[in-house]
Formats: sequence, C-alpha cells, structure tokens
Amino acid sequence: MEYWDPHIERMPVDELRQLQEYKLKQLINYVYSHSPFYKKRLDDAGIKPEDINSLEDVKKLPFTYKQDLRDNYPTGMFCVPNTQLVRFHASSGTSGKPTVVGYTRNDINCWANSLARALTSIGIGRGDNMQVSYGYGLFTGGLGLHYGAEEVSASVLPTSAGNTGRQIELMQDLGTSVIACTPSYMLYMNEAAKNMGISIKDDTDLKIGILGAEPWSEEMRKRIEDTTGIKAYDIFGTSELSGPLFTECKYQDGIHIWADQFLVEIIDPDTGEPLPDGERGELAITTLSKEALPLIRYKVGDLTALNSEPCECGRTHPRITRITGRVDDMLVVRGVNVFPGQIEAVLMNIPEVGEHFQIIVDRVNEMDMMKVQIEMTDTAFSDRVNDIISLEKKVESALKSVLNVSVKVELVEQGSLPRTVGKSKKVIDNRNL
Ligand SMILES: [Zn+2]
Repeated sequence: MEYWDPHIERMPVDELRQLQEYKLKQLINYVYSHSPFYKKRLDDAGIKPEDINSLEDVKKLPFTYKQDLRDNYPTGMFCVPNTQLVRFHASSGTSGKPTVVGYTRNDINCWANSLARALTSIGIGRGDNMQVSYGYGLFTGGLGLHYGAEEVSASVLPTSAGNTGRQIELMQDLGTSVIACTPSYMLYMNEAAKNMGISIKDDTDLKIGILGAEPWSEEMRKRIEDTTGIKAYDIFGTSELSGPLFTECKYQDGIHIWADQFLVEIIDPDTGEPLPDGERGELAITTLSKEALPLIRYKVGDLTALNSEPCECGRTHPRITRITGRVDDMLVVRGVNVFPGQIEAVLMNIPEVGEHFQIIVDRVNEMDMMKVQIEMTDTAFSDRVNDIISLEKKVESALKSVLNVSVKVELVEQGSLPRTVGKSKKVIDNRNL
C-alpha cells in the first residue's frame, strides 16, 4: 500500500491550508471555553477567539512552554473531565516535575492514525514483524509504535528495551523485519549480536530501523546502515504532543508533519518571529485535533527547519529537516555555542573512530575545558603509541575546524564507554553553571 489515507496525504496545499485555518479557529474557541489556563493566557494577551480569522493570525497567539505543564501539574491544563480519559502518560521528570498527558479515545485513535500514515510511507504493513524496543510504560515510545504497527496490520513483538541477548534471539527466530528503538540501542544491539557470533546484516531478516527519541546525525545514519545492512528512518515526536507521531517517508529526506492534525512553525529564537522555509530555528507546534490536552504554539525545544516543497512521494504535507539538537542541549564552551550533534557528525566522518563517544566539560582555573573520549573501530585498533597520538591529533583538528573551539581528544579502550538501551547521555558537564 502506498498511502494510508490518500485523500488527506495528497490534498492540494491550498485545501490543506483552508482545513488548517478552519481547525485553528475551532481550536481557539474550544480551548477558550474548556481550558481555564488558556482562557487566562489569551485574556492576558488581549486576544478573543474572534480575533483569530486566518492562519496568519496564529502569530498573535502566545507560546506554550513545558514549564506551563509543570506549573499546572498534574491535570490543570486538561480540557475534558477525567471520565473522558482512557490513558495517561508521564515524562520521567529527571529535570523537574514530571509532565502528565491525558488522552481521550479519539486522541489515541489520532495518534495511531498518524503513525499508520508514517509507517505506510516507509512501506511497512501486513507481513512485517516489528520489534518495538522502545521502553513500554509511562514513556510514550513503546505503546505509541505498538498501536501504530497494529493499525497497519504488522505483527508486533513488544520486547521493550533491555534484555538484549533475548531480543537478538527472538529477532532471529521470529524473523523481525522492522525494529523501533533509539540509535544508541541499535548500535548496542549490533555490538551485542557480534559478541554472540551473530551478524545482524547476514544472519537476520532485519531490513528497517525506525530510530529516534534522541538527536542523531546523518553521519550516524550512514554508520548504522553500513554496519547493520538496514535502512534507518528518522522518527519525531515528543511526549507532550503524544509521543512518536511522524517519520521520514521512503525518500529519507525530512520528516512529514501531518498538517491536518498539527500546525508547525519554526521560530527565530532571538526575535520570537516565525522563520521562512529553510531557515533553522526552534520548532513550535499547535495541535489541531487533540481533545484532552490541546497545545497552542508549543515550544518543543528542538532545532530544525521547515521544507514545504512537494515531496517525491506525492505527499503534500510539509517536512522538517533532521533535528540538529535541542535548545537545552546547547553547550556554551568559552563563549562558543556547541551542539553534541556537531561533534557526532565530525566523529562519524572519520573512519577510524567507533560509534561510541562521550563529551566531558570541566572548568579548570576559570577556563572551560572540553574533552571528547572516543573508542576506535576494531579494524583501526592499534597498540602503537604513535598511531594513537596521530589519530588523536587528527580528530582534534577536525573538531576545531568545525566547532571553532579547542577540544582535547582521548582515545579509550574499546567497550569502556557506557552503553545504553534507551536515550544515551553523551555529555557530562561538571561546571555547575
Ligand atoms: Zn515524502
């Protein structure tokens, strides 16, 4: 099947915009009458529902932040009574109070539908066996993909994350063709399989990976595809919106955002104004169909750019380019802005460098010091001190030329850096800023 919902997915752009406009007006009326939070927020901004008449008027609306969800913990921003909810998810709350999202039956259906369109656009459907190795539970990754895969009639192997040896055994025995997990876990699984004497490329039926829940680079994609023999697709979503919702189509050139359900803007972080196509800024999303917890111009915190050009796949819905980082991931090292993703991209372009690395930032004598620990690949591994020093120098100069700040590179023993089954923690910042 080429499209899950051909009428909506190929809708002419003008019609799509009219639909968005209609739904935006409805949304503002809805939140104004159902959410005391949004009524106050709009009143404070001097906006009445009748002031929103066109898609352009979205600019008048105030942003919503993660902090708003925390301040109204647990259900203060919900627009429906508890009796209409069929599910809750909650964020881990590692950096503050958790955020709780509630779902009506219709919200769950829309979520599954969004992923059904996405999975179909990759070519996944009946006959595929999808191993869902994202965590199940309060985290949205596992259950999100689970419902999406069932919607397109793929069979689901709900392994969740961890217990890697068993995952690989089941992958072989049940003929898993698609896996959904973090890029870090894909690498870890590949390594674990190798240690079991199994090649994912040659000894399994795995063809497709749906990888996300942490930023990863194009260079990392190439590494993963080369070493595992799969096609790796980027997925996007965030727990406050519903969890995983959108993926790349089979052309792997940006993630389609379903415009009938979500209105996407890219915001200039300095001015707060929307940016034109192609310019990188902060993602803001307005939900056009959610009932329990609709969000207006929600600042997701991810940095990306919009591409409204028609896609080769025939879908008219806009795409966002690969997320290059999160606003709160940005490190300021000696006054220079550095994203972990930039470092990953440089490292993955150097063939001797393995897939595992860690960034450590310290402050020594009032001076920021950034160190990157890296593992070499099997083939490049050397005991010769001269080889090691010359590789360290090569990586240092490659990083310096991209980041404009000096980095100390340290080669470490293979397998010595931490591995993870979920989201990896690539940065250790010891500066107490
Ligand atoms: Zn496409």
